[in-house]
Amino acid sequence: MSAKRVVILLALVSGLLAGCGVKAQPELSQSQPPAVSSELAPVKLAAGAKLKVVATTNIVGDLLKNVGGDGIDLTVMLPIGADPHSFQPAPRDVAAVSNADVVFINGLGLERFLTSLIENSNTQVTLVSLAEGIEPLDMTGHDDHAGESESADVHDHGGVDPHIWLSPVNVGVMAGNAARALAQLDPANAPMYQANAAAYQQQLTELDRWIKEQVGQIPPAQRKLVTDHDTFGYFAERYGFELVGTVIPSFSTNAEPSAQELADLQQAVEKNSVKAVFVGTTVNPVLSSRLADDTGIKLVRLYTGSLGDAASGAATYLDYMRYNTSAIVEALK
Ligand SMILES: [Zn+2]
Repeated sequence: MSAKRVVILLALVSGLLAGCGVKAQPELSQSQPPAVSSELAPVKLAAGAKLKVVATTNIVGDLLKNVGGDGIDLTVMLPIGADPHSFQPAPRDVAAVSNADVVFINGLGLERFLTSLIENSNTQVTLVSLAEGIEPLDMTGHDDHAGESESADVHDHGGVDPHIWLSPVNVGVMAGNAARALAQLDPANAPMYQANAAAYQQQLTELDRWIKEQVGQIPPAQRKLVTDHDTFGYFAERYGFELVGTVIPSFSTNAEPSAQELADLQQAVEKNSVKAVFVGTTVNPVLSSRLADDTGIKLVRLYTGSLGDAASGAATYLDYMRYNTSAIVEALK
């Protein structure tokens, strides 16, 4: 195993630890994302063969489809509707990783399932974290939000927010990272990857402008989000929403709130005149539904950890963001 691959794996594992409730060692912190630049060796491809690429989440998959285009042979690991925090890989996922030239991950501790999967794959795996160059939000960034109880801080495990894709600006950075890595691995197609990324970044810029315009319809005092778990930090930061609270006080869905935390959230919803609770399609809505019933607010389903199916109106990342924005604006304006 090359030194480079060791570095990539170490950074990944530290990200996994920080995101999954085990206290990360300071020297293995999130501030050391896997490096992508100028270090991936070209893959020796047979004539006519394409680079074999695995993407973890279907949102990462959609990004790779846009940037890789016809140059890559893409396998997306998480099916539509799968929750990235609690996904259980199957033997075919181990096989896909073993056969891949490169595995693209969201990073920042989102893909906990990769630790055992890579152990089981029994082979060298080249991992590229798309989060490189993105400044992660952590719990301290949430401290001043109304309604967050002290118990929520205690409950949190000290990780960073892995939901970077909820801001199209971050996805633009991710597209650049993907293009750079693909160009290094498959130099013959480098110009195509770079052109695809540039075209996609243009669409992301338009999406960002459109979201700002849509959010303008919500009176500023009503730009308050309550969500099932801590998903919308990057969206809130970009578009000026206040995060009032979350049903599961964690960056992951693998946690349960205490009765006290739920009572605190109910109080915060009432105090802040919050109009809706937003629940991802990959998350069990029972607790959110009880909150909505008890406080008389709306429960609105959004697409968070997964894209929607072909009929959903959220089957690509661009449509997913348009769908979510419209649903949020409709509920809060
Ligand atoms: Zn999540």
